[in-house]
Amino acid sequence: MSEFDYDLFVIGGGSGGVRAARVAAGETGAKVALAEEDRYGGTCVIRGCVPKKLMVFASEYRHAAKEARAYGWDMADGDFHWDRFKGKLEAELDRLEGVYRKLLAGSGVETFDARAKLKDAHTVELSTGETKTAKHILIATGGRPVRPDLPNADLGMVSDDIFHLKALPKRVLIIGGGYIACEFACILNGLGVEVTQYYRGAQILRGFDDEARGLIAESMKQSGVDLHLGTDIVEMHSDGGDSDLASPVGDAQYGAAAQSAGHEAGKPIHVKATNGETRVFDAVFFATGRKPNSDNMGLESLGIEVGRKGEIKVDEYSQTKVPSVYAIGDVTDRVNLTPVAIREGMAFVETVFKGNPTAVDHDLIPSAVFTQPEFGTVGLSEEQARAQEEIEVYCTSFRPMQTAFAEGEGRVLMKLIVSKANRTILGCHIVAPGAGELIQMVGIAVKMGATKEDFDRTVAVHPTMSEELVTMRNPVRTA
Ligand code: NDP
Repeated sequence: MSEFDYDLFVIGGGSGGVRAARVAAGETGAKVALAEEDRYGGTCVIRGCVPKKLMVFASEYRHAAKEARAYGWDMADGDFHWDRFKGKLEAELDRLEGVYRKLLAGSGVETFDARAKLKDAHTVELSTGETKTAKHILIATGGRPVRPDLPNADLGMVSDDIFHLKALPKRVLIIGGGYIACEFACILNGLGVEVTQYYRGAQILRGFDDEARGLIAESMKQSGVDLHLGTDIVEMHSDGGDSDLASPVGDAQYGAAAQSAGHEAGKPIHVKATNGETRVFDAVFFATGRKPNSDNMGLESLGIEVGRKGEIKVDEYSQTKVPSVYAIGDVTDRVNLTPVAIREGMAFVETVFKGNPTAVDHDLIPSAVFTQPEFGTVGLSEEQARAQEEIEVYCTSFRPMQTAFAEGEGRVLMKLIVSKANRTILGCHIVAPGAGELIQMVGIAVKMGATKEDFDRTVAVHPTMSEELVTMRNPVRTA
C-alpha cells in the first residue's frame, strides 16, 4: 500500500496535463488524479488553437466567390453570419471537451472539477476543501492573456473573449504585433470587420525572419488591415454614448465578451495613439502577450522558484527545486506551443514513471502563424544565422499560379538559410497558403540535419509552389 492517495496528481486539464495524466495511468498503471477548474482541453482546445483555426477557415471564404468567378464559375458574393458560425463552433468545442473527459476516464484517471493548489511537497488542496496526497505533483496550469498597464484597459477584450462575442464589432483596434494580434487581424478582416492594428515596434512578428515579416505585413495591408507600425495606445475611454457607426457585423448586438471584460454593449471606445490621433472603435482587442498561471498556488512558500513573469523554473526534465513537483507547458514559459507542452508531458512520464530520464528537446521546433498568407518556419532566421556563422541565403518570392490566374495580388515566399561551413539547412521560412502544412514536412528534413545538396537532389513536384524549395540553384546573397 502506498503512503499516498495517488502516484501522480496533475493540476490543469489542458493539452500537456491531460496527455501526461493519461499516459502515466494508461501505459504505466500509475494511480493518477487530475484537477481542472475550468473546461477540459485548456487554452488550445477551448480558447486558442482550435477555435482560432476554425475562425481562420471561416474568414478565408470571403474571397472564394470572387476567385471562383475568375475561374469561370457563376457565383455571387455572400454575407458571413457570426451567429450561425458561433453555434457550430460552440457545439464543436463541447464535443472536444467531451472527448478529453472521455480519454481521461478511459485511462482510469480520476478527475476533480476544482481549483487546486499546493499545500506541501506531496499534498494538493482543492477548492472543494478536500486535500489529496501524491508521490508526484505535475503543474500544467498554462497561461492567460494580459492587458497592458493602462487606465481603462478593462474596456478592451483579450483573446479569451473573442469566441464569446454576441456579434462582431464593426470597427476593431488590435494592439500588439505578435502571433495573436496578427492572426486575429487577418481573421477579423476576413470576416468583414474594419481592422486597425497598432504595433509599437518597427515591424510585426518580432523575432521571426525579417523578409518573411515584411511580406506578411505588406499582404495584411493589401488585404485591408490598417496596420500602423511604431504606434501604440496612450489612452482609452468610453463616453457611454451610442457608437456613431455602430451597426455591428453579424446578426445580434455586439457585447457579450465586452460585458464580461467590463465594457458595455455598443459603446464606442475613444483611443488616443502615440501618433497623436484620436479614433473611435467599437472594440479594442489587446493581444499584448500572455502570463503563466502560477499565482496563489502556494509555490514560493514551498521553495519552488518562480521567475519575473510568474514562470515556474524547471530543469531539462521539467523538475522544480522541490523534487516531487514538476511543471510543464506554458506555466514554465519555455516554448509556448501545444505540441511542446505535450512533448514535455510525455518526457515527464518517460522520466518519472518509465525509468528512462528524457530531457525535452526544444531545438528546431517547426511552427506556423496562421496569418493570411500563412507563415511556416523552422530553425534560424537570416538575422539569427548571420550572427552565428557564415551563410548562404536562397530565396524566391512570386505570385503563385492559382492567384495569378485569378488576377490576385498575393505573393508567396520560399526561403532557405544554409550554413556555408557544412551546407546544413539552418532555417526554412515559407509565407504561402498552406505554409503550416508545408513546414511540418520540411521540419523533418531540417531536424534530420538535411543539407542544401539533399534538397537539391530531391526531385521537384510540379506544378506546386513548394517545388521552389528544391530548385533554387543560386544564393541571392551570402553573409
Ligand atoms: P506575443 O508575445 O507573441 O506578442 C505580444 C505582442 O504584444 C508583441 O507584439 C509585443 O510587442 C506586444 N506588447 C506586449 N506588451 C505590450 C504593451 N504593454 N503595449 C503594447 N504592446 C505590447 O504574445 P501573443 O499574445 O501574441 O501570443 C502568446 C504566445 O502564444 C506566443 O508567443 C506563442 O507562443 C503562442 N501562440 C502560438 C500560436 C501559433 O502557434 N500559431 C498562435 C497564438 C499564440 P513587442 O514585440 O515590442 O514586445
